[in-house]
Amino acid sequence: HVKERGRSDFRFYQRQMNIGLLSRMKLDHAMRQALEHQRFRLHYQPQVELATGKMLGVEALLRWTDKDLGEVSPVQFIPVAEESGVIVPIGNWVIQTAIKQAALWNRDGKSMRVAINVSALQFQQANFVDSIAAALHEHALQPHCIELELTESILIKDVEDALKKLESLAALGVKLAIDDFGTGYSSLSYLKRFPIYKLKIDRSFVGDLPVDESDVAIVTAIIHLAHALKLRVIAEGVETDRQREFLQQRQCDEMQGYLFSQAMSADELEQRYLR
Ligand code: C2E
Ligand code: MG
Ligand code: MG
Ligand code: MG
Repeated sequence: HVKERGRSDFRFYQRQMNIGLLSRMKLDHAMRQALEHQRFRLHYQPQVELATGKMLGVEALLRWTDKDLGEVSPVQFIPVAEESGVIVPIGNWVIQTAIKQAALWNRDGKSMRVAINVSALQFQQANFVDSIAAALHEHALQPHCIELELTESILIKDVEDALKKLESLAALGVKLAIDDFGTGYSSLSYLKRFPIYKLKIDRSFVGDLPVDESDVAIVTAIIHLAHALKLRVIAEGVETDRQREFLQQRQCDEMQGYLFSQAMSADELEQRYLR
């Protein structure tokens, strides 16, 4: 028995190492199974106001522990899910789950913003805005408690359609953030046309602060750009005190990163920060 267990542990290890080699079809099937059997979870990572150290909100991040594959990173499975289309039902589950959780965290005069990542295919669905509105209604949640994180690539796919949807979402009162700002194929003109609330500076610009001169210039410019446009700005991937100090000096509004906290389950977040 022990020997068999050892062998399957080895296979497990091997498969986990080779996840990149798994066929997309197998991974797609595993994701559909995981959705059906409720093996996806959301973890939440704090977003902190730099001036006060106050946690203003959290970002919901998808987690998947597969029974055979072990822990699979969203960096690996989200692109496959987008390609196969299974991101649409997964994304709907994320919206439902995050909004339900946000409703629990915004009872009794308490306030906690929850940011939700949205993929391109999900955003392109004709009923995307309705699905957000319906979930807010179902859980009796004020729209301003929700922030949607969109990537630049979403906004350039079908500009007229995107504009319509973003205006409807903004009219509802939902906040809109540009995720991984500066890494996509974008023109700055959308910042003028779209009702954006916040820019999220990608962590690839943050990791080498304040040493790398280009990153210093880029991050400083993004903060100025955001404020000149009356947008809020958050830096992601903040890991050191020196990075935090730099961002604070440049009047960046918020930060998110391992320096303050990793993402964790709703229970753990409550125990650590909401008591
Ligand atoms: P993202 O939206 O840019 O999320 C930030 C990522 O950076 C998260 O990785 C987070 O755990 C990680 N991170 C946060 N602070 C630090 C830090 O200080 N250092 C480092 N090295 N990393 C940090 P995660 O959770 O692996 O997610 C990766 C990406 O997967 C996300 O990037 C997002 O694009 C996508 N994703 C995650 N959840 C969802 C989801 O529910 N829906 C969609 N469509 N995409 C998701
Ligand atoms: Mg994000
Ligand atoms: Mg990001
Ligand atoms: Mg990023």
